Amino acid sequence: MSQKLVAVKGMNDLMSPQIELWQFVERTAREMFGTWGYSEIRTPIVEDTALFVRSVGEVTDIVSKEMYTFEDKGGRSLTMRPENTAPAVRAYIEHGLGQQPLTRWYYLGPMFRYERMKTGRYRQFYQLGAEAYGPADASQDVENIALAWSFLKAIGIQHVTLHLNSLGDAADRPRYLEALKAYFAPHVATFSEAARDTFERNTMRLLDTKEEALRPLVAGAPVIGDFLGDAARAHFDEVQALLTKLEIPFVLDRSLVRGLDYYTRTTFEFIYEPPSGESTLGTAGTVCGGGRYDNLVHELGGPEKPAVGFAMGLDRLVLLLEALGTQAPLRPLLFVATMEGELKAHAFKLVTDLRLKGLAVDFDPRGGKIKRQAERASAVKARHFVVYGQSEHEAKVLKIKNMDLPDADPNKEVSVPLDDLAPWLLNASKAVSVSSSP
Ligand code: AMP
Repeated sequence: MSQKLVAVKGMNDLMSPQIELWQFVERTAREMFGTWGYSEIRTPIVEDTALFVRSVGEVTDIVSKEMYTFEDKGGRSLTMRPENTAPAVRAYIEHGLGQQPLTRWYYLGPMFRYERMKTGRYRQFYQLGAEAYGPADASQDVENIALAWSFLKAIGIQHVTLHLNSLGDAADRPRYLEALKAYFAPHVATFSEAARDTFERNTMRLLDTKEEALRPLVAGAPVIGDFLGDAARAHFDEVQALLTKLEIPFVLDRSLVRGLDYYTRTTFEFIYEPPSGESTLGTAGTVCGGGRYDNLVHELGGPEKPAVGFAMGLDRLVLLLEALGTQAPLRPLLFVATMEGELKAHAFKLVTDLRLKGLAVDFDPRGGKIKRQAERASAVKARHFVVYGQSEHEAKVLKIKNMDLPDADPNKEVSVPLDDLAPWLLNASKAVSVSSSP
């Protein structure tokens, strides 16, 4: 017997009813990020492997363990993007955009990491990110953070806390690294081989180790915040002052170093922290991560260009929205039950005319018993239901049933003249989008 074909582990099929939430999140993102002056960039799924090795960093978990890397038929080493900041920087340099004083991009698409799977952690997952190249000013950091914050609010995610830290400038690093090395050195003999390797090659990465045994030691390590130079310190103070001005709450998190090598100065994460302390996402509660990366453009061969950006995990946002019971606003507004023969053709014409006016209207092409059609209307969660029968056709008046109201409610059924149906539905759709926006 042939082997059963199933999706690759850690890679999901996305479909109804979740896909409506995905579309809601994506639609809101496109509208909102555009309004904030960010335009879309779409880079290829696959890049030269060297791009990620040089940017994300050779000793990071992503590069050392998690990349989908393969050789193409021309013998090139290619990698399916594990993140989109490096590809965006590659495109920025390749297209000579360093001439522009300010470039703001957003991206949305699948990323690939060979990670240990659990709820909210997948091998193909989707990120929504926003990057701003040019300004070194603290207001650019805060604008970027404010965009993430406002977006989370716009889609109805609550109980996320902004965690904030500064990793200082490249010039501040050597003093810090020296202190860090001196702190870990007496313990290296007890380390695993992998941890010893990290100690030798990129000591800072020990701070986000996944080895439980190292956690207590890491908890007592010197923190970068005590080694900031004057410029980085002033910048960080201004970031905090501006966040306060915009009334965006934050907590200082001195252990926040992020798992990628390119960050400088501001780093931040938005973490889902419900008041009950019980998160459905467990350790996958980080819904967004970002920060400044002032040297990356130059390190990858471009001009000196400071930049700041973030990436959000859409899979996690959709999980949260589901847990909150958010209904995607794309339920059909009206379901039309049809009779046989010519009446069915009239009803079909009505459905098509309403759809052409942009209204979400549905029907069941199989027709059949009204009871069965009503069940179908319930199954697709239609808000209103109508039977297009002989008397309705002759009187040109439809009796519309509100499926969201209980049977006893006197407003359950209203009569609407056929000629007024489109504006009536448009009105109903407005009421719906206000009441259902999470
Ligand atoms: P990072 O690029 O690692 O900073 O991740 C940014 C955001 O992407 C995280 O905060 C998560 O929300 C999301 N993310 C990262 N890795 C995964 C994954 N394997 N599965 C689902 N979401 C992820």
